[in-house]
Amino acid sequence: MKYIYGNWKMNFLDQDVNKFIKDFKKEKKPANVEFGLAVPFLHLQKMVKKLQKKCFIGAQNVCYAESGAYTGETSAKMLADKKTCFSLVGHSERRTKFLETNEQINQKIKLLLNNGIMPLLCVGETKEERAEKKTKRVLKTQLTKALKDVPNGKKFIIAYEPVWAIGTGITPEKSEIVENISYIKKVLSENNYLGICVLYGGSVNPENAKSLLGDDIIDGALVGGASLDAKKFVNIAVNLMRE
Ligand code: PEP
Repeated sequence: MKYIYGNWKMNFLDQDVNKFIKDFKKEKKPANVEFGLAVPFLHLQKMVKKLQKKCFIGAQNVCYAESGAYTGETSAKMLADKKTCFSLVGHSERRTKFLETNEQINQKIKLLLNNGIMPLLCVGETKEERAEKKTKRVLKTQLTKALKDVPNGKKFIIAYEPVWAIGTGITPEKSEIVENISYIKKVLSENNYLGICVLYGGSVNPENAKSLLGDDIIDGALVGGASLDAKKFVNIAVNLMRE
């Protein structure tokens, strides 16, 4: 099984969502691929209603607190009430633009799990950290802080997203992705988190899907820009599964 998850970020009005739903339903999907889409809060309800049977629908963020005086925020309980399957946590845009800390990410993960929602945790190094050969150290810190006191046996997904590859059109060599995903899986299993899927994210498109993701250790992709077009999004899966 491969996992192709999308992240719409802050895009799409109602008319774009309607078009996506229509196009996505039309596309022939390969077997053994699970699709998921993290959509803006305002589109959650419609997407759950219209696409839930074909694609897991998730949020892009959740509040680190349970409820109360947090103006503008959305709680895990509210997401569960709208039948949200999963939520992104710790996307690099939230870490850098909204100053989200590893401690807040840890609180978010625990609240999601307590409310029956699967966290999709994003981790990855910056260009500078990579140049200073700190990638593994960064990954280990992000993982261990995010998963502090998270019980073993809970279901979550990790996306390895090098920050320098997100939205840039620049990608690592597959060997580098394999090396870092193997390391993430090693850290997870040392902490008794077993059978956790690890995706790659950063400038994935239908053309590079097979060459970037075609390895048993890579469980799939988290796709930003190319998930805004239903045909491209599905074609990532089609090309990846091609013999
Ligand atoms: C992302 O936003 O998680 C992402 C991977 O974006 P893109 O595919 O556009 O690089």
